[in-house]
Amino acid sequence: MIVVMKMGSTVEQIEEVSTRLMEEGFKVHLSQGVEKTIMGAIGDRTRLEALDLEALPFVEKVVPILAPYKLVSREFHPADSIIRIGNQEIGGNKVHVMAGPCAVESRAQILETAQAVREAGATFLRGGAFKPRTSPYSFQGLEEEGLRYLAEAREKTGLLVITEVIDARDVSLVADYADVLQIGARNMQNFILLKEVAKCGKPVLLKRGPSATLEEWMMAAEYILDGGNYQVMFCERGIRTFESYTRNTLDLSMVPALHALSHLPVIIDPSHGTGKWNLVHPMAKAALAAGADGLIVEVHPHPEKAVSDGKQSLTPEKFKNMMADLVRLTSALDRELGEVSHHVD
Ligand code: PEP
Ligand code: MN
Repeated sequence: MIVVMKMGSTVEQIEEVSTRLMEEGFKVHLSQGVEKTIMGAIGDRTRLEALDLEALPFVEKVVPILAPYKLVSREFHPADSIIRIGNQEIGGNKVHVMAGPCAVESRAQILETAQAVREAGATFLRGGAFKPRTSPYSFQGLEEEGLRYLAEAREKTGLLVITEVIDARDVSLVADYADVLQIGARNMQNFILLKEVAKCGKPVLLKRGPSATLEEWMMAAEYILDGGNYQVMFCERGIRTFESYTRNTLDLSMVPALHALSHLPVIIDPSHGTGKWNLVHPMAKAALAAGADGLIVEVHPHPEKAVSDGKQSLTPEKFKNMMADLVRLTSALDRELGEVSHHVD
């Protein structure tokens, strides 16, 4: 249920409603808009009816949210959510490009890639230090050593760092180094991990599970918001279909669908979404045209030598060409590409 307060309601009035709700066993989430305050009340609906909050003069209305997701829904937060990360904002007019290798392989590889993607206009550096691999014999990541290289690359370039956490036990370690924690597709319904990142104090990029429905995906995000972390972004990275030419089928219809149902930003991953480097640039353009708030793209200085996902990785040069195109496209869309604001020599 949501409780919409009348325009101009005071802190004391909001407090009063919130106290009444909590006394009836409700969990209360506040959403303070520019004009109105909305309260999300999660608990037993019949008790809310008994409370008769609409009888209070400062309550405008009480509306049930019929969908199973509440806090991620537009009803709870009618305006787009803006996620503030360092001095960047995701979900507003600026479109952000996150780029880097699939995995952090060495100090030299991550520093070289960071420099290249920063020069081309990326604002975030990606790279997995913990890798969820299909085979136990594949490279599993450099772990904390990899996190240190990412932090060093941030220091040198001013890029913000996004990296994956695959285990609840590593959340605080990864949060010490990263600016954004990525929940990978395979972990979308790892509820213990979702509850843990809800407590980490850092923004989260939640990838769609390869066979997850929109509703399951939104419910996974609901876990993180319910745990107190409202800094969540959705990331579509392709789903499994009967098509085998591409690695996954990139479902771009999720961009407008999520924007209609939720207030959270939507990022598109055309690299995992297609599995082929030559499809990345066109699908990145399609994603922005559909209204995506950002992209996450794999870039490797030598894709043929990459330990993982070389086939879908762009070279720095191809990435630069794509970015030049995206500058033109964003301006046609009345948006702008984000920029690294702090100056680094
Ligand atoms: C990745 O970003 O390298 C990754 C493992 O992605 P996904 O979880 O989408 O497969
Ligand atoms: Mn990858």
